[in-house]
Amino acid sequence: MIPVQGYTGARVGVLGLGRSGLSAARALREGGAVPICWDDNETARTKAEGEGFETAKLTGKTLAELAVLITSPGIAHLYPMPNPVIEEAYELGVPVDNDISLFFRSFATTEWQNMDVVPRIVAVTGSNGKSTTSALIHHVLEHTGRATQLAGNIGRGVLDIDPAIDGEVVVLELSSYQTDLARALTPDVAVFTNLSPDHLDRHAGMGGYFAAKRRLFAEGGPERAIIGVDEAEGSYLAGQMAQGPQDDRVIRVSIDRKLTEFGWTVFARKGFLSEYRKGRQIGSIDLRAIKGLPGTHNHQNACCAYAVCRTLGLAPRVIEAGLASYPGLPHRSQIVAEAQGVTYVNDSKATNVDSAKQALGAFKKIRWICGGLEKEGGVGALADVAGEVLKAYVIGRDAEGFALQLSGVESDICVSMEQAVARAMADAGEGETVLLAPAAASFDQYDNFEKRGDHFAQLVKATLGQQG
Ligand code: ADP
Repeated sequence: MIPVQGYTGARVGVLGLGRSGLSAARALREGGAVPICWDDNETARTKAEGEGFETAKLTGKTLAELAVLITSPGIAHLYPMPNPVIEEAYELGVPVDNDISLFFRSFATTEWQNMDVVPRIVAVTGSNGKSTTSALIHHVLEHTGRATQLAGNIGRGVLDIDPAIDGEVVVLELSSYQTDLARALTPDVAVFTNLSPDHLDRHAGMGGYFAAKRRLFAEGGPERAIIGVDEAEGSYLAGQMAQGPQDDRVIRVSIDRKLTEFGWTVFARKGFLSEYRKGRQIGSIDLRAIKGLPGTHNHQNACCAYAVCRTLGLAPRVIEAGLASYPGLPHRSQIVAEAQGVTYVNDSKATNVDSAKQALGAFKKIRWICGGLEKEGGVGALADVAGEVLKAYVIGRDAEGFALQLSGVESDICVSMEQAVARAMADAGEGETVLLAPAAASFDQYDNFEKRGDHFAQLVKATLGQQG
């Protein structure tokens, strides 16, 4: 745990008592603050009380007396409507903050004076690829024997990690909700993978969404910024962070362009990763053979992770060995079975249009299981990239509406995962891929995308077991 510094003796509100809220309350208490907790859900409150925390409705005098209000990423702080407690805090002038910010304020300690190499924080944001990139960095560092911990949106809550040891690198995956609210955001290395529409209701559109992610770069000014420049927003951000094209504090990453004209770049073309620094090629890696990283979208993640490891002083061939042994993350282009020439892929994490697009681009002859709770903007754009789709097997409560948008794609309205898997498996022949890449959230039928992916994998395995 990282005890929170700077609030000794102060009353600190904790709104939302899920994973990050409870861990913030514990870390605050450990640092000497007095957490006053609230969650509208009674079970969550009872759990906090069971740990000895004071609970109270955060309003009026109770709220006004707080030094700061810590809130959870799932609670809307501005759009589409601020949560009433947060709105009242704004009116009273009580600062609103989150666990990420507490972490950045509390990570460094006096112990560091005795260290040879000061610990560093790498923070990764972007629309897609955050988890994969963060896990990759962590994996490569582990592979080389460097002390490292992974936290944030992936793995453990930020305040749950252990205090850093000499030379350790902490890798944080940060969502737009987290970067939007954190009052302290000071990573040593910051990564922006890419940008495409997602969570627009929480940010009042694309501008707000980009602004939230950009704060990771604007607030503290990281020593190195690693930025995917294949969208205008990334290109703009890279330009804004750098003094000029040769400024190598910014490493530009691309999977579209051969970027050789800048101070420092990493790009992937035709499956080969290249690094250029001041006009000279430094490294080159064949990514095509790495099983854990299929598709060009994963090559983008590999480029970002490679760039981070280079800033941390690792040599190209050391990074190459680490990348090669990356096992992949569950629910992201994860091969769950291979039988009779058919490959079964679980990409349940493809919860938005862009990530599903990438999955569709990464495989051939696809029997595509898609659908679920649609995000703003619809899924019509997917019809253009469905060239490799033999048939779509549409799940979700509104499977029909979803299928209607996929004009030109042969669709089978299945509604349930059971139906979709059964029909796709019955139709699939040698050389084909049965791919779960929903392009939608799971909440209409599942608690989360993990449950959806597990269900898919379990149905596939059960059917293959019966056949075998
Ligand atoms: P995040 O944590 O940002 O959601 P993940 O690594 O969990 O990112 O991947 C989310 C989804 O996006 C998965 O379906 C994955 O296959 C896809 N994906 C991964 N990396 C990228 C990328 N660089 N660009 C687009 N899609 C990606």
